[in-house]
Amino acid sequence: MFELTLDPEDWEKMKILAQKMATDMVSYHQNIRDVKPFIPPTKQIIEEIKESLPLDPLGSEETYKQFKSKILKNHGASACSPGCWNTVIGTGTTFGALADMWMSGLNSLSTTNTMFSSYVELQVIEWFKEMLSYPLEASGVLVSGGSMSNLLALTVARNTKAGYDIKKEGGNGKLVFYGSNEMHYSIDRDLEVLGVGSNNLRKISVDDQFRVNVDELRKKIKEDKIAGLKPVCVVGCAGTTNTGSFDDLEALAELCREEDLWFHVDGAFGAWVQLSPKYKHLVKGMEKADSLTFDLHKWMYMPYGIGCVLVRDADAHYRSFAHEADYIKHDRSLVDFTVELSRPFRSLKAWMSLKEHGVKKYAALIEQNIEQAKYFGKRVEETAGFELLAPVVSNIVCFRYKGIGLDEDEIKRLRGLTLSKWYEELPDFIPTSTVVNGKQAIRLCITNHRTTRQDLDKAFDWFLNTLTKLSSK
Ligand SMILES: *Cc1c(COP(=O)(O)O)cnc(C)c1O
Repeated sequence: MFELTLDPEDWEKMKILAQKMATDMVSYHQNIRDVKPFIPPTKQIIEEIKESLPLDPLGSEETYKQFKSKILKNHGASACSPGCWNTVIGTGTTFGALADMWMSGLNSLSTTNTMFSSYVELQVIEWFKEMLSYPLEASGVLVSGGSMSNLLALTVARNTKAGYDIKKEGGNGKLVFYGSNEMHYSIDRDLEVLGVGSNNLRKISVDDQFRVNVDELRKKIKEDKIAGLKPVCVVGCAGTTNTGSFDDLEALAELCREEDLWFHVDGAFGAWVQLSPKYKHLVKGMEKADSLTFDLHKWMYMPYGIGCVLVRDADAHYRSFAHEADYIKHDRSLVDFTVELSRPFRSLKAWMSLKEHGVKKYAALIEQNIEQAKYFGKRVEETAGFELLAPVVSNIVCFRYKGIGLDEDEIKRLRGLTLSKWYEELPDFIPTSTVVNGKQAIRLCITNHRTTRQDLDKAFDWFLNTLTKLSSK
C-alpha cells in the first residue's frame, strides 16, 4: 500500500539543492555591501506576495526559485547590513545561520531532562553566567528575546514579592513597580499582561546622564508604602534603548535591599559591556540583581530569536512556572522555568557561535562598537553647528544639527528636508530618529560587527554636507 511522507522523493537531488541553498546564503553575506540595509517595501512588492493558496505541489526546486524571485529579491538586507544603526540591530553571522539550519534539522525539543539538547542549553547558560559575572547558583532559560525575558523576570518578581498567592488569587491593584522614564516599553506591556497594570509602573525622572534619580525613586517608594500600596520591584536599565545610558545599579541594588524589593536589570544589549575590561564599570552592581534580562541576538550578534533570563533565586523562578499534567510528567526541567513548552534548540547557535569565535573576540567587538560610537560622537562635537543631545557613554549617539544662530523652527524645517533626502541619498546607512529631552535627535546605535569607521565617516560627511547645503538656501 502506498503511504504518504514529506521526505524528499529524490535524496540525491535534495543534496544538490541543499548545497546550492547554503552556498547562496554564504554568498549573500559575502556580498552584503551590495545590498541596501533598508528598502521600504513598495506597494507593488506587497501586492506581489499576495497569492492564492498553493494546493498542489511546486516541488522544492521550483519553490526555492520562487523564494529567490519573490522573497529574496524584494527583502533587502535589512538586518545584516554594515549600515544598520537603527533600533538595536545585531546583524547575525554566517555560521550562526548555519547553526540555525542544524537547529531545524535536528528538530529537537529543549523541554525536559530527557532531551539531550536541554543539557546544551544548561551548558550555554553556565557560560553566560560566567561571562556576565552573575552568581553561578542562578537559574536561567533561553527565550525568544528581551521582551519575553523581561516578562518572565517580572512574573517571578510579582509572584515572590506580592505577599500573597497571586498566582491563584490574581492581582489586587496594589502592586507597584518602578524604573526610569527611559525604560524599554516592553516593561509597560509586560505589566499589562501580568495584570499589574501599566498605571502601576512609576516612571522616575533621570539626571543629565539619563540615569534614574535614585533619591526621587526612594521618596516615591516611601510615599507608596504610606499610601497602603505594595512596592514590588525596581527595574534598572543597563543600556537604555534611547541613549545607551546605564543606571547606577550599585545604588539601586542597595535601595532594593533596604526596602525589600525585587531588583530586576534590563540589560537586553547593555549587559554585555561586562565583557570589556575598559567599560564594565558601567554595569557595576548588575551581579546583585535578582533577575537579569539579556539578548544574544543584539550585541552578541547571533541570528534573531535568542534571549535569556537569569534569576538568582532558582527556586523562586521554578515556583513561578512549574506545572504538571497527566500526559507530561518530569523532574525539574527547562520547561518549569518558562511559559513555552515545545521549545526550539536555540542554544545550538549560541554553543556554536561562542566556540567559533571565542569570548575574547566578542569582548573586543563590543569595545570596538563603543569606540566607534565615541569616535562619531567626537566628530559631532568638533563640528560647528552640530551638537550631542546625550553623552556617548556606550554604543549610542544622539545628535542634531542646530546650525549657527538658527531658531528652533528653522532647525525643524531642515530636519524635515534632511529626512526626506536620507533614504534617497544615503541608502547604505540607516540611523533612526528619536526624541531626547524633547528635542528631535538623529540616533545611531552600533551593535554591528560589520560597521567600520569609514562607514561612520561617510554617514557623518553626508549629514554635514547636506545640512550645510540646505541651511545656506
Ligand atoms: C530590545 C530591547 C528589549 C526587547 O528585546 P527584544 O529582544 O527585542 O524582545 C528590552 N529592553 C531593551 C533595553 C532593549 O533594547
